[in-house]
Amino acid sequence: MSALKVYNSYTRHKDVFEPITPGHVGIYVCGPTVSGESHLGHARPYITFDVIYRYLMHLGYKVRYVRNITDAGHFEEEGREAEDKIAKKAVIEKLEPMELVQKYTNLYHWAMHQLNNLDPSIEPTATGHIIEQISMIQKIMAEGYAYEVNGSVYFDVKKYAANYTYGKLSGRILDDLRETTRDLEGQDEKRNTQDFALWKSAPPEHLMRWQSPWGEGFPGWHIECSAMAAKYLGTQFDIHGGGMDLQFPHHESEIAQSTICYKHVPARYWLHNNMITVNGRKMGKSYNNQIRLTEMFSGDHPLLQKGYSPMTIRFFILQTHYRSTLDFGNEALQAAEKGLKRLWEAYEALKKIPDAGNEEAGDEALDARVRRQILEMDEFMNDDFHTAKVLANMFDLTPVVNSIKDKHLPVSSISTGTLELLQSYFKIYLENILGLKDETFSDDDKLTGTLELLIQIRKEAKSRKDYATSDKIRNQLNELGILLKDDKDGNMSYTFA
Ligand code: ZN
Repeated sequence: MSALKVYNSYTRHKDVFEPITPGHVGIYVCGPTVSGESHLGHARPYITFDVIYRYLMHLGYKVRYVRNITDAGHFEEEGREAEDKIAKKAVIEKLEPMELVQKYTNLYHWAMHQLNNLDPSIEPTATGHIIEQISMIQKIMAEGYAYEVNGSVYFDVKKYAANYTYGKLSGRILDDLRETTRDLEGQDEKRNTQDFALWKSAPPEHLMRWQSPWGEGFPGWHIECSAMAAKYLGTQFDIHGGGMDLQFPHHESEIAQSTICYKHVPARYWLHNNMITVNGRKMGKSYNNQIRLTEMFSGDHPLLQKGYSPMTIRFFILQTHYRSTLDFGNEALQAAEKGLKRLWEAYEALKKIPDAGNEEAGDEALDARVRRQILEMDEFMNDDFHTAKVLANMFDLTPVVNSIKDKHLPVSSISTGTLELLQSYFKIYLENILGLKDETFSDDDKLTGTLELLIQIRKEAKSRKDYATSDKIRNQLNELGILLKDDKDGNMSYTFA
């Protein structure tokens, strides 16, 4: 099997992946700012890096996956600076900032679980790492690359660019930076317009504030990720991930901060997923096309014809390579919904196909084709996590599975070895690597199944005269309002009180 290659935004080509510590991978992914509900734009990076995390584990690596929560208002979004989003919204909604943070963190976790994303190994919060951020800022100041003005601290980008390579990741040059940061708050304090805030002095009305050597204030957004990544993954780690929109200025600034503090670029591989468009348009507030995930699931949005299940969204995202743009539209989503159903039905059928026990394939050409298409999936994943090609091969294999199921094709057409390979690859890829799951079981189905299981256990207990257990099951279900009844034939039924 080929080695894993990943497209590294830093080197701008596909590099063979070699972790710093053999057998272990450290990965840092920029998490959400929990000042509002997760929207569609959040689904793609977290699903992308969830699959990368799952695939690295599948390859046998022990992975530490760190994904932060930005809960101290960050003040660099869409080129706008010095606006503590969290504190601002807290005033509007009359909530404690941490109450708001908790509310949106809970909603975010709920959405991540709906999308079947695994929890990260560590989910550090910015507010929990103020001390680490302050000490990193002090180090940058001591090195002479940051300066204090009126209780705020700024990174000296011009000085940095004079002595180190600046802009390698994003391809930006200093003049671009001047363009994007022209009218920002705090500009009069900075030595140069390109400089960014490491620490911001808090005005009296600012709710989130911490003591620092420079007075009360709050940390900058970029320093948060640098400090937390270094704390949990070391000053240099394997993979740094995030959306393409974070390359500049966020990741570029992280690189500058770490280079001053630790004398090297923090991560060896920088992976960035491309953006989502909606009906061909960039997502943004001005287009009114920022669809929340709760709206995606319910269909309660003017742009949506209906609701789409979390697995439909996940599947749809994985049908495109993560570095290509992806357009969300009702037609495409409905096609994905049908595609997933077809694939899942084939997978269910495949599980039930009995092994014919033939070592030789009845149709050697077919057997060879099936085998090649299965093994290609590993090659595709090793080629920068090409989930789209993996799914395309699965779709190619679906008619073979269906023909065997419908008995148009004898199972002996393919060898036992190939059938087993097909069965195990469908399971490993669909469930373990791509993280898809069967959505056909409703909560009602689960409750029915659980009750039937309890009835079965009670029946077994009674048959061996273990009345303590059988009474316990009946009494405790009774307390929950579920009444069990034995009929004269020894069958049990239940009713809800
Ligand atoms: Zn970050």
